[in-house]
Amino acid sequence: MPAGHGIRTFGRSMTPADYKVLLVDDDPALLRLLSRWLAGAGYSVRTAADGRKALDAIELECPDFLITDWMMPHVDGMELCGKVREMLLPHYVYIVFLTVKTGAAEMIAGLENGADDFLTKPVSKGELLARLKSRSRVLELERRLSLMAHTDSLTGLLTQRSFYESLEKEWRRSRRSRLPLSCVMMDLDFFKQVNDVHGHPAGDSALKFAAELLMDNCRVSDTICRYGGEEFCVMLPETRENGAAVWAERARSRLAALRIPVGINYLNVTGSFGVAQCRDDTQTSEELVDLADQALLCAKRMGRDRVVCYTALADAAEPQLSCSARHGAIFAGKLARDVMAPLTVCLREDDTIEEAAGFFLQFGIPATPVLDADGALAGLISEKDLMATMVSPECRQRPLSSTMCSKVICYEEVTPVRVIHEFLCRVSIRGVVITNQGRPTGMITHGSLLRWFHDWIGDKRLMPGPQTAHSDLQTALPSGGNATVASGE
Ligand code: GH3
Ligand code: MG
Ligand code: MG
Repeated sequence: MPAGHGIRTFGRSMTPADYKVLLVDDDPALLRLLSRWLAGAGYSVRTAADGRKALDAIELECPDFLITDWMMPHVDGMELCGKVREMLLPHYVYIVFLTVKTGAAEMIAGLENGADDFLTKPVSKGELLARLKSRSRVLELERRLSLMAHTDSLTGLLTQRSFYESLEKEWRRSRRSRLPLSCVMMDLDFFKQVNDVHGHPAGDSALKFAAELLMDNCRVSDTICRYGGEEFCVMLPETRENGAAVWAERARSRLAALRIPVGINYLNVTGSFGVAQCRDDTQTSEELVDLADQALLCAKRMGRDRVVCYTALADAAEPQLSCSARHGAIFAGKLARDVMAPLTVCLREDDTIEEAAGFFLQFGIPATPVLDADGALAGLISEKDLMATMVSPECRQRPLSSTMCSKVICYEEVTPVRVIHEFLCRVSIRGVVITNQGRPTGMITHGSLLRWFHDWIGDKRLMPGPQTAHSDLQTALPSGGNATVASGE
């Protein structure tokens, strides 16, 4: 697949102009004649006077058809054919030999060496064009199949798989050349509601408009894909994180201003963007996407319709790191499972809004994980999520799956509490879910950390040497947090 953009249309039938022909012959008069015939039929034609020049031309741009003389100086037709078959080319090259040799032995040798067809000299114009036309039909079918395999049928963008193929190449190039490489993840906000309110076809249309808008914002060297559902991923080669953030901010504001026609009305969508640049310690191309995804997650948690850079999160964590070093006495050796509020009862995704409301009232907690039928984590529901649905009496029968947040920040039970404390200090999320091998076993919220801290102070008071405990507390008290500490969701 070509690098860049990654959008192609299936609709139009291909014409001869879509096919590139490379003509190779050491007879300049014949080259001119064949060139004229082919160009007259609409093909895009290049010529080479011998096999060596032909190889250079193929390196530069891979043709669809290679029509070559057999007997030539330097590299002859047979050798050229063998070399082309060994080259790593973006697509198959259909090779036609021009020859006066028409014996069965020569034909077999040619075919075995990689030739596809033969035209005897003197060449007939009608036969040459008819053979190319017949092969073009097969080529068109092959291209359509290849496009279908590489592109998403709704938006025409690359699929996630093809995107990773391009990203991998670009990632390696960036490592080799030490050029920057950035990645932007975008997820449309509250898209489930778009479908619920305007219907699925309107949702599809919004996805197409959003895809086109992102595409129009890309340079030819950028690559964009539909990552899945209403999520898009863009790779920006030779771009630093701040440049990618400028790109994302422009795309974000244009998207927010976009009026998407639905019948006689319009709908608006917004998107949250996560931006990351390949770092020295980024081990794989997937890791780069993951960094952008983490930033996206925080953009969602911070209120959506915004751009968040990964380094902004990391930088925000720096003061906390030194702060937490001072807090080492509190968190030393403590794991998530020591601090979490264990899950005793849980909501399931087919429980109703009404049942969830009763649950929150009974247990007096602000949020809880939601399990699927197999007991695995399906999402998170908060009092605020429930409040947002309380718009009509009918909503009480809706399942939680329709309103819960399906992207949940999880930490395994063995995670040091310090890590979770730092995270909750820097993002606007009130709590994280604690898991044991993927299954939710508890939650750590601002509340549970405060409770644990309170108990820790209590224990210190009971211990002998109140002076020491007091001075410990002086250094342990939070130093005011930072600008990204949230008001909570
Ligand atoms: P958030 O802001 O947290 O991302 O909320 P959200 O509603 O966008 O996220 P959620 O993951 O809960 O829902 C994604 C929705 O996107 C649900 C799904 O039906 C919709 N969606 C995914 N793919 C398509 C598609 O191809 N067409 C349409 N119409 N909807 C789609
Ligand atoms: Mg979404
Ligand atoms: Mg999504």
